[in-house]
Amino acid sequence: MIYDVAIMGAGIAGMATAARLQAQGLSTLLLEAHGRPGGCAGYFRRRGFSFDVGATTLVDFEQGGVGGEFLDSIGMTALEGEALPGYVAWLPDRTVTLYRDSARWAAERLSGLGNTPAHRALWRLLDQLAGAFWEASRRGIKMPMHSLADALHNLGTIGLANLPLARYVGWTMGDALRHFGLRDDPALVGLLGMLIEDTVHSTVDRAPLINAALGITIRGAGLTRHRGGMYGFWRRLVGHYRALGGDLRLACPVEHLDGQFGDFRLHTRQGHYAARQVVSALPAAITARIAPDLAKPLHRYLKRDADAEGGAMVVFLGVPESEVGGQDFTHHQLMQDYSLPLGNGNNMFISVSAPNDTESAPVGCRAVMISTHCELEPWEGLSQEAYAAQKEAAGKRLLDYARRVYPNLGENALVYEIATPCTYEHFTNRPRGTVGGVRQTLRNANQYAIPHDLGPRGLWMVGDSTWPGLGTVACVLGSRIVAEGAARAARQMHYFQSLITQTQ
Ligand SMILES: Cc1cc2nc3c(=O)[nH]c(=O)nc-3n(C[C@H](O)[C@H](O)[C@H](O)COP(=O)(O)OP(=O)(O)OC[C@H]3O[C@@H](n4cnc5c(N)ncnc54)[C@H](O)[C@@H]3O)c2cc1C
Repeated sequence: MIYDVAIMGAGIAGMATAARLQAQGLSTLLLEAHGRPGGCAGYFRRRGFSFDVGATTLVDFEQGGVGGEFLDSIGMTALEGEALPGYVAWLPDRTVTLYRDSARWAAERLSGLGNTPAHRALWRLLDQLAGAFWEASRRGIKMPMHSLADALHNLGTIGLANLPLARYVGWTMGDALRHFGLRDDPALVGLLGMLIEDTVHSTVDRAPLINAALGITIRGAGLTRHRGGMYGFWRRLVGHYRALGGDLRLACPVEHLDGQFGDFRLHTRQGHYAARQVVSALPAAITARIAPDLAKPLHRYLKRDADAEGGAMVVFLGVPESEVGGQDFTHHQLMQDYSLPLGNGNNMFISVSAPNDTESAPVGCRAVMISTHCELEPWEGLSQEAYAAQKEAAGKRLLDYARRVYPNLGENALVYEIATPCTYEHFTNRPRGTVGGVRQTLRNANQYAIPHDLGPRGLWMVGDSTWPGLGTVACVLGSRIVAEGAARAARQMHYFQSLITQTQ
């Protein structure tokens, strides 16, 4: 059998692309290396608990959102879960509640972080940028632009009225802070830095302002934790994809890809598969290894971004409910010290499963994930003993920090596990255990990001190493662009084939 489209990698980007194409009537094959789908937005189960290995929240999955459009396009009903009302940022000297509700957030940020004309002007600009570019994302903005047609399409998504905002394309968040004289305000810069590191994997001085403004406002776009966490989400999504007729093969890593538009060949240990088009939903470094046709065009991007990679550590806890009491919110983001670089616990996220979510935890218990970004080098070249000791110390450090929010956390844990970059390398195949796409800067984001159509015709790329970058919402937006392109190419191929048949 020859599939219309084969997709390599069943992370959120690959799954979303496959489901969109299948829902449009194309035959799709989705090949996943691991025994479960999900990749960095996947899950594992232990003793009745479900843990999210990376992403714990789905962003903008409500009606009209980027994720909502995806669910609509594949005919899937709304997410079932907890729409987070916001979360609490624990700065070294204060807490600030990041309300989802825009009016409450507008009041909170002024009372918690400063209410000078400069503060108000900065927030006004960030609100303006976020409003315009969230809307453009929902309307399918596409980068990098290759042609006048792309530029016109993007103009339509942004709207003429917002065109003056284009002057901020060359600004970083640091430029905006300096413009308003706020670069040295520790609490404000600390909070923005945490949100930026978490969403665009960058720093205030290097993150492009527009990307940072979108990252800072993801709460407003809506964060949802599915019932059962990612386990619940993937069960529904995979069931839906298979009901549409999609073919998902697990534990089936693609080792090599060759061929051309109309006749690609995917080689795995389980067998060889043929497809008219192929989508690589793998990180760019893996794609370059598997697909020689993409290795050359990807080379300059991979070289450029080699020092813009990072990893993550996560502590997974299954605990009695009493250990996570006393808080109104189930999600918290913590910073320990304004003067230290972010990562390694100095910016970490605590995600607790919702009360009564018995798909995430047995009755009377809760699943807890504590995650932080980290450097990759300290985890490389260690002996087994040194690795085990470093992992134990890292887990203990994160748990100690988390006790600022939940003082008894982990005292009677039923599950306690730790993931490091080595764990990610093992379970997602990501070289060195890099996660989260590149640390975004003006030199590698947007117009300079890895495009979706870098290779020969019919060979596409999607996922968090391509535009727009990391996160479930970015991957879902990328899947829309790639699915539209692949469906268009399939229609053109079908048209030419029917012309040839008629003339014979
Ligand atoms: C700790 C952490 C917390 C995060 N928190 C959030 C959050 O709360 N919200 C959010 O939106 N985002 C979050 N993210 C980011 C988000 O999880 C990722 O950006 C996103 O899941 C990446 O998806 P992807 O499909 O591009 O890549 P991946 O998830 O890496 O998917 C690629 C898939 O390809 C498979 N694969 C690899 N090699 C092969 C091969 N040769 N053949 C076939 N298959 C192969 C892998 O097993 C994997 O399943 C977080 C990430 C981390 C690490």
